[in-house]
Amino acid sequence: MNARTYQVRTYGCQMNVHDSERLAGLLDDAGYTKAGDDGSGADVVVLNTCAVRENADNKLYGNLGHLASVKASRPGMQIAVGGCLAQKDRDEIVRRAPWVDVVFGTHNVGSLPVLLERARVEQEAQVEIVEALEVFPSSLPSRRESPYSAWVAISVGCNNTCTFCIVPALRGREKDRRPGDILAEVEALVADGVIEVTLLGQNVNAYGVEFGDRYAFGKLLRSVGAVEGLERVRFTSPHPRDFTDDVIAAMAETPTVMPQLHMPLQSGSDRILKAMRRSYRQRRYLDLVERVRAAMPDAAITTDIIVGFPGETDEDFEQTLHVVREARFASAFTFQYSKRPGTPAAEMADQVPPEVVRERYQRLADLVEEVAWDEARALVGSEVDVLVSDGEGRKDERTQRLSGRARDNRLVHFAVPATTTEDGAEGPQPPRPGDVVTVEVTRAAPHYLVADSAADGGRYEIRRTRAGDAYERATAADAGGGSSGVLLGMPSIGVPQEEAASVSGCAVSG
Ligand code: SF4
Repeated sequence: MNARTYQVRTYGCQMNVHDSERLAGLLDDAGYTKAGDDGSGADVVVLNTCAVRENADNKLYGNLGHLASVKASRPGMQIAVGGCLAQKDRDEIVRRAPWVDVVFGTHNVGSLPVLLERARVEQEAQVEIVEALEVFPSSLPSRRESPYSAWVAISVGCNNTCTFCIVPALRGREKDRRPGDILAEVEALVADGVIEVTLLGQNVNAYGVEFGDRYAFGKLLRSVGAVEGLERVRFTSPHPRDFTDDVIAAMAETPTVMPQLHMPLQSGSDRILKAMRRSYRQRRYLDLVERVRAAMPDAAITTDIIVGFPGETDEDFEQTLHVVREARFASAFTFQYSKRPGTPAAEMADQVPPEVVRERYQRLADLVEEVAWDEARALVGSEVDVLVSDGEGRKDERTQRLSGRARDNRLVHFAVPATTTEDGAEGPQPPRPGDVVTVEVTRAAPHYLVADSAADGGRYEIRRTRAGDAYERATAADAGGGSSGVLLGMPSIGVPQEEAASVSGCAVSG
């Protein structure tokens, strides 16, 4: 009998993207195989949901409605719903969509194969939601998205109580993974060919709170950064309150920690930060930016901002614009506030009228773009090391551009020389995803850089890496019908699959 096939559909933040890698790994381990790229015809469809977006539930039931008709024509097909919305809505899901076979929560992703099997044998929907984490997700099998770049969860949950955020209610209090387990996972990834890791947590720099070491995150950065063969370390998302000088020192003094920081601002107004229950203030945020820049002058700083939080006045909004001008963000994920049921902010008086929110949002987006573009233009003429990615950029017909990420995480589209020269001689082979090229930036746009130096004989150097070898092996295994153990594709840094709710692990807005 052929193995049953599965498709995992992911909504929301990186934490969900990472959980989906675990879900796929668990299903692989249980003998299922991944359905073709479009997932059509999958025997098992898993929806890994997000509760952060407005109307997330309407969208879920819309998707389930569509799957009902698919299931009606495919006997034996199973549908499972997991993630934050499942944690929140539980039995409600099978009440409204009785054709769903399994509902599981954020704390028990490891139960999926058992629940699917039980639903099949008992011919009855299985709903299993637990209130506390059973097994740290990273100790479960995983089907990684990329052979060269990987997420590594260091903590889950959050002890903060930001009034707009549903995460604490759904993901629970912070659970920290032991440093030794994290290092062991990073070492295993590197042995597999990975050269870039992103440490992931809802509030990544609070790491250590569970075992009482407030300097644990800085120490972890240093020890992960020292893993032999690892070239790039990133993390997301830190909370400004917990950002201590030892972390800045660890970033600046560890060559493999990249000069990049994604630090959610949310608002520039002290009054609104207080109403959001974010315990830092504008001055503290800007001080941090200054200290990071003093230690790492080339750091690209990015952020998340919410516009139109309840009670936000024009003056409050001006304070946010002020921080954008001062902090010189390389980019910002900007969100119009909308009510999230179950959060304290949804009950607040003084909700800002939608037309005011829209107008402010546009002004903010324009300013963010202007600042980001200025910052990017300052890089024209500089050299950048680009980790070549798979499927992140468009190839340009004329220049045959490829794409990747600079050390500061900026997206770079770069030209590659022709593989045969005009007189028919063989030119350099193009880089593989996972290789690193050094090129010169020739043009800047607000959201990316163009580096066409290779097109006119300028700087163009390829460094073939172990990660490129791993990519080649994985591609060959896939082409030969073997199991590469990884799914080829971009590791979604900054751009989670499907709908990004937030760039943060701290899934705050959307
Ligand atoms: S916004 Fe981030 S820090 Fe605040 S409660 Fe949510 S996850 Fe925690």
